[in-house]
Amino acid sequence: MLQDIRVFLSDMDGTFCLGNQLLPGALQFAKVLREQGKRLYFVTNNSSHRAIFYAERLRSLGLDSCTPDYIITSTDSCIFHLQKTYPRARVFLLASREVAIDFLRGGFTLVTENPDIVVLCFDTTLTYWKLAKACAFLRKGTPFFATHPDFNCPTEDGELIDAGSLVEAIKASTGRVPRYFGKPCPEMIEYVLWRTGARKEELAILGDRLYTDIAMGQQAGITTILLLTGETRKDDLENSPWKPDFVFSSLEELAQNLGR
Ligand SMILES: [Mg+2]
Repeated sequence: MLQDIRVFLSDMDGTFCLGNQLLPGALQFAKVLREQGKRLYFVTNNSSHRAIFYAERLRSLGLDSCTPDYIITSTDSCIFHLQKTYPRARVFLLASREVAIDFLRGGFTLVTENPDIVVLCFDTTLTYWKLAKACAFLRKGTPFFATHPDFNCPTEDGELIDAGSLVEAIKASTGRVPRYFGKPCPEMIEYVLWRTGARKEELAILGDRLYTDIAMGQQAGITTILLLTGETRKDDLENSPWKPDFVFSSLEELAQNLGR
């Protein structure tokens, strides 16, 4: 039952907002959850910025209560897992300077020679030099990780080339593919469970993409809620291997259902 859910894990783009605009019913949904003593986290694959950036953006859009504690990025999941398998590793990092801070705080050393691992985020400061360096390390067999597999990132001005497409360029050159930590990987759920301290049956994942948001929730045995405000249209559901538990046309409709 929707009423039994204590912790909501919302996707951002296409579900709660689109770039610098909130989607209809977003604040109403957040308010209903607050009134019912339920928690709302934002789970994003977008590793071009840090959690603090997204929290500030949501606050500036009117979600006053949003702090970085309630933002979970694929970078956070990536760092959490790499700390277990490659603690204090020397990392050749493809990421913005801002995101590099998270790796430094995570105890990693950022290097441009002899790395232990290569990690790729949604690097909006990518250069040919970085790509060529990464490929050279990967050809030598250096372990390869990436935050998330998305080919494109939706914005209010259209799609932006995303980390998954950058991986394709590296793959074409080296034949190497990374291990991912964002949606829809089980590593992301594992991290979310740790971060929220919630049990699976208390959680629901909210998203606009069947093959990331809904796929991850369903594989993990978590309640899934599809919002038709982003990528997916109602017709897509018929042929999809992923069947969400609930489908709503908007957050407004979901808020009304929760408010009952
Ligand atoms: Mg989305």
